[in-house]
Amino acid sequence: MNFDFTEEQLLLRKTVRNFVDKEIMPYIGEWDEKGEFHPEIIRRLATLGLMGVCIPEKYGGSGMDYNSLAIVCEELERGDTAFRTAVSVHTGLNSMTLLQWGTEEQKQTYLVPQAKGKKIGAFGLTEPNAGSDVAAMQSTAVKDGDYYILNGQKTWISLCDVADHFLVFAYTDKSKKHHGISAFIVERTMEGFSSKAIKGKLGIRAGNTGEIFFDHMKVPKENLLGEEGEGFKIAMSALDSGRFTVAAGACGLIMACLEASLTYCHERETFGKKIGEHQLVKQMLANMEAGLQMSRLLVYRAGELKNKGVRNTRETSLAKWQACDFANKAADDAVQIHGAYGYSNEYPVERYLRNSKAPVIYEGTREIHTIMQADYVLGYRKDKPLNKMLPAWPFEE
Ligand SMILES: Cc1cc2nc3c(=O)[nH]c(=O)nc-3n(C[C@H](O)[C@H](O)[C@H](O)COP(=O)(O)OP(=O)(O)OC[C@H]3O[C@@H](n4cnc5c(N)ncnc54)[C@H](O)[C@@H]3O)c2cc1C
Repeated sequence: MNFDFTEEQLLLRKTVRNFVDKEIMPYIGEWDEKGEFHPEIIRRLATLGLMGVCIPEKYGGSGMDYNSLAIVCEELERGDTAFRTAVSVHTGLNSMTLLQWGTEEQKQTYLVPQAKGKKIGAFGLTEPNAGSDVAAMQSTAVKDGDYYILNGQKTWISLCDVADHFLVFAYTDKSKKHHGISAFIVERTMEGFSSKAIKGKLGIRAGNTGEIFFDHMKVPKENLLGEEGEGFKIAMSALDSGRFTVAAGACGLIMACLEASLTYCHERETFGKKIGEHQLVKQMLANMEAGLQMSRLLVYRAGELKNKGVRNTRETSLAKWQACDFANKAADDAVQIHGAYGYSNEYPVERYLRNSKAPVIYEGTREIHTIMQADYVLGYRKDKPLNKMLPAWPFEE
């Protein structure tokens, strides 16, 4: 066990924090209010090498370890959940999955430009009638010569109008249920692709989320990721990477709640003293600190297992579940500490509360993770190594 960050990781944290303080914090309130996604932030993150932080250098990334990705996500979500979500889908769900499952040719064509941030990746699994129950999906892919013809619809897709590449899932053989789902790399420019943003979201309003549609979309057979029928397994392994970034981001949201609450506790007075001196207010601050520290330990343990190249579905699920619940509670308490002022957008805490809800729903709802953890302790569920694992870190040249 080693609880120390490396010099490189400390510098990385400082870099992302400075970026967030200068490029996101001053504007995010307005972007959130207007519901504007700002893609130039993604381009600037790319110039800092942050869109492929844990992708090997030989595939265009920065070659840092998996916990460095956690640091990026923590610091980004301290600014806003929208930008951490962008990194989660681009790096966690898409690029890391290409790194794990892609052929050399797929990595050169898709992973390299994504790791450099020249192309943006997203992930399309959810459908109008298939969220937690992935196998209820209706999208189909029918082989036709050198192509697959995709038909269907995905919903709640982060970066739907922004991404260049999407990792999507469709049935190649419905009769085989989970074993009949296949994974495909598709491009926005492919004929038959369209997207449409969802309006009226509770939170992550500075993010872009919506639907994507496949209408007789011709996808070259080279764009099948893994083998036919491996799609469900690939999707679940993608979630091991994505959930890790969500959990790390939740730590950043707790940091933001704590920072805002501490400032307010030192300013606001009631009954002749600063509100931070009231025991019940202290309790909320103490719970935030406990949630932050416990969540971080769970996240970095999952990251360390990734560094070792060990399957970590169980540990990542626990980290994601707990960190997102702690963040949701921290945001609720942050509003409480601010009293009525917390109920208006004069302070950022109402945005934190709205933003804290989606992560409790996406990448496995609170209930799905609860069931997973119960199944692990009951011995109903066990993790076995997959036929293709994420490479251990340090990466081979
Ligand atoms: C902002 C946002 C961004 C998103 N981005 C993406 C994305 O980029 N790509 C993507 O593919 N998806 C994305 N999603 C979709 C997300 O992954 C799904 O919403 C999630 O998987 C839950 O599915 P659902 O909404 O259909 O809920 P359902 O599965 O219909 O669940 C409804 C309720 O029933 C509960 N429930 C369901 N099954 C069980 C069970 N077996 N036991 C107990 N309770 C159960 C759930 O916990 C939940 O409370 C995003 C969602 C949001 C909100």
